Amino acid sequence: MIEIDKQIEIVTSISKAINLKQAGLHEPEFKGNEFRYVEDCLKSTFVSSVGAYVNRFEEAICKYTEAKYAVAVVNGTSALHTALVLSGVQPGDEVLVPALTFIATANAVTYCGASPHFVDSNEENLGIDAEKLREYLKTIAVSKNGLTINKKSGKVIRAIIPVHIFGHPCDIDEILTIANDYGLVIVEDAAESLGSTYKGKHTGNFGLMGVLSFNGNKIVTTGGGGAIMTNDEKIAERATHITKTSRISSKWDFVHDEVGFNYRMPNLNAALGLGQIECIDEKVTKKRELFKRYQSAISGIDGVRMLEEPKTSKSNYWLQTIILENSKPENLDSMLNLFNNQGISARPVWRLLPLQTPYMKCQSDDISQALRISKKVINIPSSPSLVD
Ligand SMILES: *Cc1c(COP(=O)(O)O)cnc(C)c1O
Repeated sequence: MIEIDKQIEIVTSISKAINLKQAGLHEPEFKGNEFRYVEDCLKSTFVSSVGAYVNRFEEAICKYTEAKYAVAVVNGTSALHTALVLSGVQPGDEVLVPALTFIATANAVTYCGASPHFVDSNEENLGIDAEKLREYLKTIAVSKNGLTINKKSGKVIRAIIPVHIFGHPCDIDEILTIANDYGLVIVEDAAESLGSTYKGKHTGNFGLMGVLSFNGNKIVTTGGGGAIMTNDEKIAERATHITKTSRISSKWDFVHDEVGFNYRMPNLNAALGLGQIECIDEKVTKKRELFKRYQSAISGIDGVRMLEEPKTSKSNYWLQTIILENSKPENLDSMLNLFNNQGISARPVWRLLPLQTPYMKCQSDDISQALRISKKVINIPSSPSLVD
C-alpha cells in the first residue's frame, strides 16, 4: 500500500527532475545528418529496397555493435521471424519466451507455426530468470534423438529468446550455458538494447543471432525498421537472401529458389537510420544522465527506486523505470493517473503474454515473479532530449 501523499511526492519529484509541463514517453530527435541523408536519398530516386544507404547503415550497425554481419529489414518483428526461420524452428515446435516482453517476441514464434512456451523473469534485471529456467527444464524436458522434448506436450523445444528488457542486459551467460546443455538455439531479442553491453560485449552478439528494432520509439529509429545481427557468415548470407524474396541474381530473369520474404529495409529508411546511428553515443550518454537525475530526485523517498543497470552490464537506459515496493494494483493505477493527468507520460509494463487472448492456452512455467514485477513497475519519460 502506498499512501496518496507519497504517490504525489513521487510524481512531483519526477516532474521536477525534468522541469517540464509535458513529456512523452519516448520521442525521437533528429540533430545529426538525418535531413541531409534523407534529402540525398530522395534526390537519388533510390528510395526503395536497392540503394547505397542500406549497405552503409548495415556497416554502421556492425561497426558500433562489433557484430560481423548485420542485415537490415522492415521492422524488429520481421527480423525476429527471419532469425527463427534460420534457427530451424519448425511448425509444431516450442520456443522458450519470457512472459514479460512485448508481444512481437511471441508473434514471431507463431509466424513459424511454432508455439511460445512462457518462462518467468527475475526482479533484478527483468529478464529471464536463468536459475528458475534450469530447474523448470529439469522437470519438463527429456532428451530424445539429440532433441529436447517437452514431456507434457510431446513437442520439440527448439530455441530460447532472451530479451534485454528496457535496455538492461539479462543474465545471458547463464542462459547460454542452459542452451548449450539442452542443445537449444539462442536468438537474442535486443530490440530495446542497442547501446547496451554485457561484460563489455554488445548485446545481440551472444546468441546465434541477435535482433534490433528501429521503431519510432526505440533509441535509434528508421521510422520503422529492424536488423538481424550475427557472427556467422552462412547465416548472414541466408538472412540477406530470404529477406529479399530469395531471388537468385541473374541478368533479368525473376528466379526464386524458395519462398522468401519481402522484408528488405528500404533505402529511404536506411538514410534516416544512418543519420541516427551516427549520434548513438550522445543518445546513450544523455539517457544515462537522465537516469541519474531521476535517481537523485527520488532518493529521499523510501519504498521507491529507479531500476538500475546490472553490475556486469552497461545499459542504454532505453526506458526509465521506477519500481514501487509494497504497491497494490490500485496504487499503480492511481499513480499512472497522477502522472498522465499532469502531462507526464507514464505506462505500466506490457500485460503478460500468457494473459493475452492469443496466448492463453500456451505452455507456461509458474510466472509469479513476472506477475509481481508487472504490479510494481512504471515507465516514465525517457527521451534523450529531456536533459538538454
Ligand atoms: C520493439 C520491440 C520488438 C519489435 O520491433 P518492431 O520494430 O516494433 O517490430 C520486439 N521485441 C521487443 C522487446 C521490442 O521492444
